[in-house]
Amino acid sequence: MISLFATDRLTHLYPSIQVFITEQVIPLEREFLSLPFGELLPKLDALREQVKQKGWWAPPLPESEGGMGLSLTEFAQLSELMGRTPLGHYLFNCQAPDIGNMELMLSHASEALQEQFLEPLIQGETRSCFSMTEPEFAGSNPTRMATTAIRDGDDYVISGHKWFTTAADGAQFAVVMAITNPDATSPYERASMIVVPTDTPGFDRVRNISVMGESGEGYHSHAEIKYEKCRVPVSYRIGPEGKGFMLAQERLGPGRIHHCMRWIGIAERALEMMCQYAIRRELKDGRPLANMQTIQNWIAESRAEIDASRLLVLHTARKIDEEGQKAARQQISTIKFYVAGMLDRVLDRAVQSHGALGITDDTVLAYWYRHERAARIYDGPDEVHKSVLARDILKSYQE
Ligand SMILES: Cc1cc2nc3c(=O)[nH]c(=O)nc-3n(C[C@H](O)[C@H](O)[C@H](O)COP(=O)(O)OP(=O)(O)OC[C@H]3O[C@@H](n4cnc5c(N)ncnc54)[C@H](O)[C@@H]3O)c2cc1C
Repeated sequence: MISLFATDRLTHLYPSIQVFITEQVIPLEREFLSLPFGELLPKLDALREQVKQKGWWAPPLPESEGGMGLSLTEFAQLSELMGRTPLGHYLFNCQAPDIGNMELMLSHASEALQEQFLEPLIQGETRSCFSMTEPEFAGSNPTRMATTAIRDGDDYVISGHKWFTTAADGAQFAVVMAITNPDATSPYERASMIVVPTDTPGFDRVRNISVMGESGEGYHSHAEIKYEKCRVPVSYRIGPEGKGFMLAQERLGPGRIHHCMRWIGIAERALEMMCQYAIRRELKDGRPLANMQTIQNWIAESRAEIDASRLLVLHTARKIDEEGQKAARQQISTIKFYVAGMLDRVLDRAVQSHGALGITDDTVLAYWYRHERAARIYDGPDEVHKSVLARDILKSYQE
């Protein structure tokens, strides 16, 4: 925790959550890496109950909604702690995509939708997913999509093909982005967000997509889904018709802070593992790996890049807290590509310094190496964020 960004509340909370993560959660990783996710659920449920009892549940949500009411800057620092293990965010019920859906529905869903879908989600009784990307169209320009929601009386009839719908397996509902206003002049005003329960006739989870050799299951999976004339009431729409992209933008801002801080937690742990291994691995009698200058360079570069990332992200979080998302647009793009790149480099160095052990599942490094390569792709690929940032910077030179 950096004192510049500390608050009394955080100073009080941080050490106990750190102990909980270190002593209760990290030891479960061996089972997480070797068992199907479903088999671990009873143990995870017991830990979730502890988190609830301690009053640490859903930290970014308002207290009135059962959360901790933390500011984004405060939550960001806890998100780093939780990120130190792949199980962290799930145990505190602030995992993507659920937390994004919770924040979205709190602000924009009707009371009836909140009661039916949001409350059980906040309680941790259900899970959800977010279904926007389609295999046939470039996800980096999501205005191009083919999924439609056609009005038929008081219903929408939804048809389309989506993929990379994270955590759809076992979710109770999907928030689906579908075209409702094809004739709107602006491509950003053609789509709406609609809740589709996963037991709706026509909802077909085709498969969990194999990612780097792993299809996963339950919360740890990404699904391909066909929506074949799924009929849901018009009242299942979140927010006004045609405003889906506006809502998606709103959903992504805090989400990028959550992800970036989670990545910093991963990088910090990878650096720790690299240092511990470098000290204990002897290359010759009395000459540990840590004596090699290459490893020393990697350690020093990683330290500098992680610290720089943390300052950038917390600065961005504070700007969002104080001035709103729009004012922090440049910073949000900057952290998205910068921190994802840092994570990629630090993980690669950590894997390389562990030699063959680095690519086994005897440590958590290979899991992260497989799954976090995606950090440079989802929520906008690096190239899109760099281009957004550069164009914004260049504007001030064009006047
Ligand atoms: C692990 C993971 C989880 C995901 N979870 C979800 C989810 O829950 N829900 C959901 O709806 N989607 C999800 N996605 C999809 C994700 O949002 C898209 O993959 C992302 O938006 C990129 O779209 P695409 O894959 O179609 O790549 P494309 O748009 O086809 O782009 C391909 C490549 O082209 C390059 N490129 C693209 N645009 C530009 C540009 N303007 N300038 C220069 N180069 C460019 C980039 O290198 C990019 O990687 C997930 C993806 C992954 C990998």
